[in-house]
Amino acid sequence: MMEVKVKGVSYFGVRSPKHVLADMADIKAAGFNAVLHTWSEEDQQYYYGTMKKIVDSSANLGLKVYVNPWGIGRVFGGEAYSELTARDHSMCQVALDGKPKVAACPSNPKFSEYMHKWIETVCNTAVDTIFWDEPHFYFEKGGLSNWSCRCPVCCAKFRQRFGYDMPAAPFDEMQQDQARDVLQFREDSLIDFLKEMTEDVHARGKRNCVCMLPPWFPAGLDDWSKVARLESVDEVASDPYWEKGATEEWVREKYAETARKLTDVAKQFGKDVQMWIKAYQIEAGRENDLAIAVEESRKAAIDNIFAWSYRGTETLSWLKSDNPDAVAKAFRTALK
Ligand SMILES: [Zn+2]
Repeated sequence: MMEVKVKGVSYFGVRSPKHVLADMADIKAAGFNAVLHTWSEEDQQYYYGTMKKIVDSSANLGLKVYVNPWGIGRVFGGEAYSELTARDHSMCQVALDGKPKVAACPSNPKFSEYMHKWIETVCNTAVDTIFWDEPHFYFEKGGLSNWSCRCPVCCAKFRQRFGYDMPAAPFDEMQQDQARDVLQFREDSLIDFLKEMTEDVHARGKRNCVCMLPPWFPAGLDDWSKVARLESVDEVASDPYWEKGATEEWVREKYAETARKLTDVAKQFGKDVQMWIKAYQIEAGRENDLAIAVEESRKAAIDNIFAWSYRGTETLSWLKSDNPDAVAKAFRTALK
């Protein structure tokens, strides 16, 4: 079995450097050599010095540090509030129903401006890799019928590129070629955004990893080769987390399938690969699912494996696992 070279967990929710460092020492002692710290809008606005201390001292301990824009603009994943669109409604994504959503549009120049400042701030620490976590267009659980984004920026760009107004219909009611145009437009918008951001990060001497939502989410980013092809992207990742109640077979199949999809595009473009293992909301007695997910990733020769999150996500009660000790142990053992 392929040796796992980069072993990490994500970490969030504690902003006291003293306590964070005790946990970092614990993470290191458990055999990990990497950590992902979340950096939300709140961190950016109110905790900059604290976050710098947390990132720098984690790196000093010898941990390779990843940082993600946690829930920022709700363009990225994460249980963090976003205030950007409340302060400036013109940044909102607009869905097919014509309503502005609590999500910034990745094509809005004001959102880009915010992200460049975020990049500048975070890259001014000992961070190793910026982790672009699940970049996506706004969607509601249940699918694509009320799709985004039809904000004025997107509508104008679409018209300019295709020469007709962006269709205002659910995808299954559009003419086929128009649906194809809209899907391609959404995908290219996310790629343009990622290209601009990852190039900024590279110019500051840091690495980029892009984590793509698994294929069954309507994120808008279906062709992973478009991400892997970007020169400024060093690593591609995914997080095919199972829902509570999924069977072991589901876990095995989806991890195998996603690992294959990732390694295929990575090989094609010479990029590194990272896999994320679900370590939240794990029911008592189902800790072995982590071992299955790790096993399928290792079978695909993935040597960079992280869990979301530290100790079964015990501090976030909404997502906490029944038995944090057992989850932590299952992950540690599977990486050996
Ligand atoms: Zn838009």
